[in-house]
Amino acid sequence: MPQFQHVNVPEGDLVRNENGRPVVGARPIIGLLQGDGIGIDITPVMTSVVDAAVHKAYGDERAIAWCPLYAGLQALERYGNELPDETIDAIRHLGIAIKGPYTTPIGDEKFVCLHCAHQQDNKTTCAECGKDDGLTPRYRSINVRLRQHLDLYACVRPVRYFDGVPAPNKYADQVDFVIFRENTEDVYAGYDFERGSDTAQAVIALMKEHTGRDIRPDSGIGIKPISESGTKRLVRRAVQWAKDQKLPSVTLVHKGNIMKFTEGAFSAWGYEVAADEFGADTITEKAVWEQHDGTPPAGRIVIKDRIADSIFQQIQTRPGEYSVLALPNLNGDYMSDAAIALVGGLGLGPGANIGDEAAVFEATHGTAPKYTGQDKVNPGSLMLSAVMMLEHMGWKEPADLVLAGMKKAIANGHVTYDLARLMRAEGRQDVEELSCSGFGRAVIELM
Ligand code: NAD
Repeated sequence: MPQFQHVNVPEGDLVRNENGRPVVGARPIIGLLQGDGIGIDITPVMTSVVDAAVHKAYGDERAIAWCPLYAGLQALERYGNELPDETIDAIRHLGIAIKGPYTTPIGDEKFVCLHCAHQQDNKTTCAECGKDDGLTPRYRSINVRLRQHLDLYACVRPVRYFDGVPAPNKYADQVDFVIFRENTEDVYAGYDFERGSDTAQAVIALMKEHTGRDIRPDSGIGIKPISESGTKRLVRRAVQWAKDQKLPSVTLVHKGNIMKFTEGAFSAWGYEVAADEFGADTITEKAVWEQHDGTPPAGRIVIKDRIADSIFQQIQTRPGEYSVLALPNLNGDYMSDAAIALVGGLGLGPGANIGDEAAVFEATHGTAPKYTGQDKVNPGSLMLSAVMMLEHMGWKEPADLVLAGMKKAIANGHVTYDLARLMRAEGRQDVEELSCSGFGRAVIELM
């Protein structure tokens, strides 16, 4: 066991990752990162709901051993910086963690306050919240650094409708799919060169030399790498998820009609990994039509592909036909936000970043600093991230209990202020506005 300065690993079972899949004992140790801002409100509500669900499902036979880890303001207080190596090492050691949101500096000012996310050019007292112990030099996103250090290559976003939530789409009640977005390649790899720079000019010259084609000399140049290994490890995870959760299809989304060797290859390699590694569990959509009159054989996951622009129509007009979508980085980015909008916005969207060494589950909203400590905000995103975490661990019973409790509370109109406002605007009279912890208690009662 590594020696930690501020991390106290509780008694329990380490989650081991074997061939990229978690092996979980009866008392798994799970890293818990509270998050900045409203993390202090939503994180304890999430753990209380999860503990109650695990107890209801398994009695005393199973329980989670939460292991507090520190980033953001809590790390600044303990270690003097916002993301200590120890936190990254501890997540790697535990193999699994769940986290609240973290402040990300976005402006150019030199310092950021981790109490309220305000940015300014001096390190004295925060001009916004008046506190003087939260200011720290601006830094790169904690979320991005965790992804890079731990090689969390799959960004996983479930999108599902909750009965009673006002949603703009007519078919919102059919939306229930999981997006697997590649997290390390494509435009995210960051090969982006300024117009006139040495690299941009060299690439333009190289293209001329090798292809004879002219790129305008005043062009900025971006490079979009998509590799076979990077694609296969993502699609492998998407197909495995479909298999574990007994879902009917995996759709490979690409723009291969325009970019054959990157986008098109993503699709081709995706089909390959499905056939080579999951041959007995999968069947292509083409084979379903050619050999089975359009009805997939029972228990087989249908592997299909869609051009990116058509899938943006399809998720609006026929969302029920999709259950797992696998995409390269940029299209996955667009798709994640577009899909969440179908079911009424970002408020309840959960997420996870998963790699072969570790999986980190997270709330997808930010730190909402103006609500910090008020016990007011919606803990739904983090609760649903915990549902994904339990599913990932193979603990389906407590996952279903949390989901059932949330569905009932929301359908009854027992919701936090954000959903209450939306529901009332739709003319509902029976809405009861609950606090953050009150919503947690309602979920526990109804699960
Ligand atoms: P935000 O998500 O914090 O807030 C946007 C709006 O949504 C606000 O009106 C807020 O009050 C509301 N909101 C957010 N979460 C809510 C919840 N759980 N329940 C009810 N209402 C909620 O986004 P922002 O204001 O742009 O960012 C604030 C800080 O959070 C910034 O430092 C930003 O970089 C950071 N951030 C972090 C993450 C992350 O860690 N994953 C994601 C987004 C933003």
